Amino acid sequence: MSKRRALGQHFLRDPAIARAIVDVVAPTASDRVVEIGPGEGALTGELARRAGHVVAIEVDHELAARVRARFPGVEVVEADARTWDYATLEAAPGGRVLVVGNLPYSVSKPIVMSLVTARAAVDEMALMLQREVAERLAASPGNKTYGSLSVFTQLACEVRIALRVPPGAFRPPPKVESAVVHLVVQRAPRVRIEDEHRFHVVVRAAFAHRRKTLGNALARTLGLPVERVRAAAEAADIDPGRRAETLDLAEFARLAARLA
Ligand code: SAM
Repeated sequence: MSKRRALGQHFLRDPAIARAIVDVVAPTASDRVVEIGPGEGALTGELARRAGHVVAIEVDHELAARVRARFPGVEVVEADARTWDYATLEAAPGGRVLVVGNLPYSVSKPIVMSLVTARAAVDEMALMLQREVAERLAASPGNKTYGSLSVFTQLACEVRIALRVPPGAFRPPPKVESAVVHLVVQRAPRVRIEDEHRFHVVVRAAFAHRRKTLGNALARTLGLPVERVRAAAEAADIDPGRRAETLDLAEFARLAARLA
């Protein structure tokens, strides 16, 4: 596979779309921005012009060197955005920490999970994703795209789809459609979670067998007796015959607490 394909290198060629993406978080001089995957710098110039400081994380050595030469005021870090430590970011007094990126689609989910995990360090994000992934992040319970990524993201953030972008806006055009999501990190948790690790395990287990009932999916994935799972669901006021995709955040939180 070519490096270009492996690293999802589809570059934005429309400056109006680049500006519209940056407008989603509207950086000001007091804000610090982390750009994920600057590539050839389609978003970087607009970010550098508007934000107080820009850190750009690029895994491709040649592209990192080019962006560094083209935008000397930008701090270019050659690193993997899946594992970069976002928790080290600090806002300037009175400013925000923003994350902006046209993400490499093949690794967009682990990058989103790293960002959600580092939410204490981030205020807002504008992320271009494959349209289906963007819709999954924003999906409500009952929607067939609602899954564990929706639950984990919405636990931490207000999510909305800000912009849809056609394949022709990129060079080379990807085979899929794209959309930009606007994520606003919530400082107060949207529901109270006693044990975040357990919450993650229960949510993932519930969605591991989407076509099974909640009781059967959890029993099977967690290796628990089905009666024990059914009793926990009923104690949480949830019918174990429902499917995972119908549960909202508060119901998952109650269920995880009862499955201690
Ligand atoms: N921002 C540019 C634009 O909009 O034209 C480029 C976007 S391109 C879809 C994705 C970029 O992410 C590429 O520059 C690619 O080299 C970089 N990339 C791929 N995997 C990465 C990773 N794990 N960590 C950081 N950057 C990565």
